[in-house]
Amino acid sequence: MNKLKNRIAVTYSFKTIRNHVIIKGALLILGIILMQACHNSPNQNTSQVQDQEHPNITKLKNQSAEFIPEIIKLNDKVYVAVGYDGSNASMVIGDQGVVIIDALRALGAAEKVAQEFRNITDKPVKALIYTHGHLDHTGGTSAFIGHNKEVKIIARAGFKDELQERSPVEPILKQRNIRQFGRDLPAKDIINRGVAAGITPTDRAGKGYIAPNLTFQDSITLKLAGVDIQLHAADGETNDELFVWIPDLNTLFTGDNYYKSFPNLYAIRGSQYRDVKSWGESIQKMSTYPVEYLVPGHTRPISGKVLVHDNLKNYATAILSVYQQTIDAMNKGYTLQQTVDSVKLADSLINQPNLQEFYGSVPWGVRSIFLHYVGWFDGNPTNLNPLSSSQEAKRMAELAGGEDKLFQQLSAAVQKSDYQWGLELADYLLQTDYDRVKVTKIKIGLLRSLAAQQINAPARNYYLSYSYELEKSLM
Ligand SMILES: [Zn+2]
Repeated sequence: MNKLKNRIAVTYSFKTIRNHVIIKGALLILGIILMQACHNSPNQNTSQVQDQEHPNITKLKNQSAEFIPEIIKLNDKVYVAVGYDGSNASMVIGDQGVVIIDALRALGAAEKVAQEFRNITDKPVKALIYTHGHLDHTGGTSAFIGHNKEVKIIARAGFKDELQERSPVEPILKQRNIRQFGRDLPAKDIINRGVAAGITPTDRAGKGYIAPNLTFQDSITLKLAGVDIQLHAADGETNDELFVWIPDLNTLFTGDNYYKSFPNLYAIRGSQYRDVKSWGESIQKMSTYPVEYLVPGHTRPISGKVLVHDNLKNYATAILSVYQQTIDAMNKGYTLQQTVDSVKLADSLINQPNLQEFYGSVPWGVRSIFLHYVGWFDGNPTNLNPLSSSQEAKRMAELAGGEDKLFQQLSAAVQKSDYQWGLELADYLLQTDYDRVKVTKIKIGLLRSLAAQQINAPARNYYLSYSYELEKSLM
């Protein structure tokens, strides 16, 4: 069997075939037929394999139901616009007017929602609350309030601070952002962004932003449009995050500290440390309120005291458990990878619908916590002065018995659908003098095969985006 597989693997490389001793035509044909029949194998022309859909992809596709555009009447006084843009915007109706919570990103999308809200009530907007400073919640403000200076625009002190400073690594952050969100992917590859639709409006994105005119430190209670509203600082996805609690309506707005997905404790586009412990504690605090209606920053709202409580509880437990397991593993002297390997969600959490890793990922969160507390050195002296990548690659090739042998191992990994190992072997080969084009084509196929298994939208988008970049590099 192994022999057969090796022969199949050889079909990747016609040059290798020529350079090796004769392989009989019949065997080659058999190999090609088997190759085509083989499931999940990246093929030489690098097109994405059209196999039976992986269950994770089905789940990720089903998540798109969370972003179908709809104005949801949550209760008599609260309406939530879902799916008009990447995030949610809400309206709370009071005796003297309305309060808007979050303002979407694209002014064009915000104008549509503002019109929908006006169709429900023509009461004037008295206040607008930003749950945090991310552009997808702040870009469409003027659609709701025009430039009326009377309207209170409320946020936490330190609002947008973490976004203000221009990063010296802006160019690469931009590129990684494009990959994470799959912004340049062809339509056929787009499913969604985990907590937002795959494509979001671009009509005057961010152009309606207006800065807050009222900020607070820890918490504040205000009467806005005749409604008693409490705002509480709640560090989590950002350091300027707050939650909104309306006791008379038993309604809580979480900002981006909660949505229907395992939380994005670390963003692979590259982000500053998100305070994981505070994030868990913020959710824990929310779970102490008698919430009947929960409005997340993304994905559809939830109704029902028990359901809301259970969701908040398991979210907080999951976050704090990942945090604590990471800390404990670190204190045992585990290296970064050992720490990642050791941290798991409990069985009672792993199948919860609101903890599926559509957007965030447990191992990525663990890495982020680890690096936050100790920096790059993982504690193993082997890693104090490692070999250069090219040295390591050269020696791996030697260990395999030469570059051809290493390539055979790569082909075998492909055959076994051992995609991650395949990627690692491909990366070694790409640092040797071996046929770059041939290996790159296989890497492209591997990235696409991995993409076809991901429940996590950022991972899927990143694999695919990178595969197209590699494809371009071969042209
Ligand atoms: Zn958001």
